[in-house]
Amino acid sequence: MFRSARFKITVWYVLAIMLISLTFSLVIYRAVANDLNQRYVNIENQIKSNFKNLEKIPPVLKNMLQNDLRVAKQRVYFMLLFANGGILVISMLVGYFLAGRTLRPIEEMVEEQNRFISDASHELRTPLAALKTSTEVALRDRKMSAAQARNILEENLEDIGSLEMLSEHLLHLAQYQRGRRVLEFEKMDLAEAARRVHKKITAVADKKNIKIGLDIESVHINADVISMEELIMILLDNALKYTPQKGNITMKVASEGRNSVLSVTDSGEGISQRDIQHIFDRFYRADRSRSKSRVSGFGLGLPVAKKIVELHHGTIRVSSRIGQGSTFTVRIPQA
Ligand code: ADP
Repeated sequence: MFRSARFKITVWYVLAIMLISLTFSLVIYRAVANDLNQRYVNIENQIKSNFKNLEKIPPVLKNMLQNDLRVAKQRVYFMLLFANGGILVISMLVGYFLAGRTLRPIEEMVEEQNRFISDASHELRTPLAALKTSTEVALRDRKMSAAQARNILEENLEDIGSLEMLSEHLLHLAQYQRGRRVLEFEKMDLAEAARRVHKKITAVADKKNIKIGLDIESVHINADVISMEELIMILLDNALKYTPQKGNITMKVASEGRNSVLSVTDSGEGISQRDIQHIFDRFYRADRSRSKSRVSGFGLGLPVAKKIVELHHGTIRVSSRIGQGSTFTVRIPQA
């Protein structure tokens, strides 16, 4: 597909260049030919005025002059033809090269989209298959008690919940990437957003017996409130997911120079140096076999978080030590 597009673009480049070049050549040829004709007439007039008694220019001389004129015009014609031939070859080569460069980012984007679609469908297939199997097994079991059925329904509901989360993250990521999600930037207090998210997530933290400490001061940024809360939620949710029972989490909001800084520190399992460079990649989950079986997730939270931070002209960094915990730090310019 891209090969034929490259040829087509090259043809258009060459056509455009040749059209300009031929038009200029025609104009140049006509101007030079007119100039030569004028010179010929001038020479004839000069000869006539120098030789007063000459009634008519001798045919031999006239022939010579006309011959010279024809040769001069032919030279100009061939020079222009040669130049246009050169321009044609060069424009074909340059056009082909430029078409390749023009198409490269589009090609990369299409490849990326295809990878995204195949990764997403792969991630969707696994929980869907699990749901289908457990439902089929339950339907076949005629002796199942109401309590057992309830159990299965609860498990299925959990799977549906995580599927919902997956589709939501997929949708948000696609929207952020395409710039479809309209961000409404307004002056907001990052501390207030942090407090609101903290309130929403406290119940989950309590279940795991984890205390989320707050150390926040009021700082103002220009941001989209909904996506800021989504960002904080992703960081806190991860901290909770990857921190064992009775662990500690601290969320800080402070100002640092021209930036507002939000950091989430946990006393969880930490991330290895090998994984740290990939955790912002889509669908990447550190130590797959280990975390997949224990903690639910699809490796989309941090890519969404990163996109949100980028859209707010900020940075997100992580420092971590295996077995000791991790700190995610977001810096966003102050309003
Ligand atoms: P998910 O949590 O759904 O797997 P994320 O994109 O949010 O996806 O995170 C990617 C990976 O980064 C996780 O699978 C996990 O291995 C690692 N990770 C993220 N946050 C933490 C954290 N606070 N502590 C330890 N590992 C983390």
